Amino acid sequence: MQQVQQTECFNIMEKIVQQKLEAYLPDSGCCACDMCAGDIMCLALNKLPPKYVNTHKGELFSRVDQIMLRQNSVDIDFAVINAIEQIKDNPRCQQQAKK
Ligand SMILES: [Zn+2]
Repeated sequence: MQQVQQTECFNIMEKIVQQKLEAYLPDSGCCACDMCAGDIMCLALNKLPPKYVNTHKGELFSRVDQIMLRQNSVDIDFAVINAIEQIKDNPRCQQQAKK
């Protein structure tokens, strides 16, 4: 009997959003702490369709580039920028700091 090798299903949209976040967050004036960055990631990802790929070691990053070129990258930009604006107006870390 042939053994099925372990598959790796990965939502590549996470990597793409993370790259966009790293590109836009520093210039946005938004808080860039771990909590806010995580909130922005989740907000953006909730607005975007997941894109699962079967990855093998080393293939992931070349596939990110392929998909970013092919996919409607404007939608992804929009979702990320929108999420940054939302968190910028209402950062959760600073709410917690307030008494
Ligand atoms: Zn923050």
